[in-house]
Amino acid sequence: MMKMNVIGLDIGGTIIKIGIIRSGEIIAETTIDAISGKGLKGRLPAIEQAVNALLGEQNIPKRDLSGIGISSPGIIDPYKARLITVYNKFEDAAQLDLRAWAKEKWGIPLSMNNDARSACIGEWQYGAGKGCDNMVMVTLGTGFGSSAIIEGRILHGKHFRGGILGGHIIANAEGFQCNCGNIGCVEAHSSTWNLEAIAKNIDGFENSGLAHKLPLDFRIIFEEAAAGNKIAIKIRNYCMDYWAVGIANLIYAYDPERVVIGGGVMKSADVIIPYIQKKLKGFGWIDFDEIDIVKAKYPNSAALLSAEYLINNPV
Ligand SMILES: [Zn+2]
Repeated sequence: MMKMNVIGLDIGGTIIKIGIIRSGEIIAETTIDAISGKGLKGRLPAIEQAVNALLGEQNIPKRDLSGIGISSPGIIDPYKARLITVYNKFEDAAQLDLRAWAKEKWGIPLSMNNDARSACIGEWQYGAGKGCDNMVMVTLGTGFGSSAIIEGRILHGKHFRGGILGGHIIANAEGFQCNCGNIGCVEAHSSTWNLEAIAKNIDGFENSGLAHKLPLDFRIIFEEAAAGNKIAIKIRNYCMDYWAVGIANLIYAYDPERVVIGGGVMKSADVIIPYIQKKLKGFGWIDFDEIDIVKAKYPNSAALLSAEYLINNPV
């Protein structure tokens, strides 16, 4: 049997997804708690155990594994498979030699990339971006994640920040303070983490029923807006305007043929996609009819799926 199975790890702040990928499909999958405050090193034995349990269930011997691909938040050097900058979560991850760990446990190579980039690779290879040589992916909701494929290659950049800082494009020089320290980043004006400040800035919010529904999230905003709540519609449209601005800037930067949009908010894709398309048509320089704006195909598993590509196409 060929070495055709890849282990995928998608490290999140609250859960770690673990999967076995073969020929573009996740054939087995499980999750464990991240317990990220306690460091990644302490979770490695649990990850190892979960991987081995999946391999056992599928009767896959170590010799049929071709590698392990990891998706993680933070700035990652894909050549060394090392985290360079990580915010808050898994503070010890930058010190870990995960390649040595993979070699010791399974005798296989390990690749690693940023989670926004991994989701983009998954959609590019297997999902809504299939067949594109030039694509941008954004993940909306909790933040504004972004990544780009240019001329058939994953954009990394000199310092591995290429394409992934779209949420921190400055869209309003006098806007809200972002969690990165800058003023007026796209995601400071359109993300769950700052939704309360965004809402409080909307005229009429304080006296509206929504003011009693804190903390707000996009599910509440989109539901209330769909029911005709005028304040919710204002908040929703305010955020969608910033999503459109962020996407327009990414289009200017990378000239894609397709923009894939992911994130939990895409349950409301029927509202979001036409709104953004219409908004983009109002911006200059590009005929936006030439660019497809589509919903992600694998919103929950694209990052895991990317593991196979990362192993078969090492940087
Ligand atoms: Zn920022």
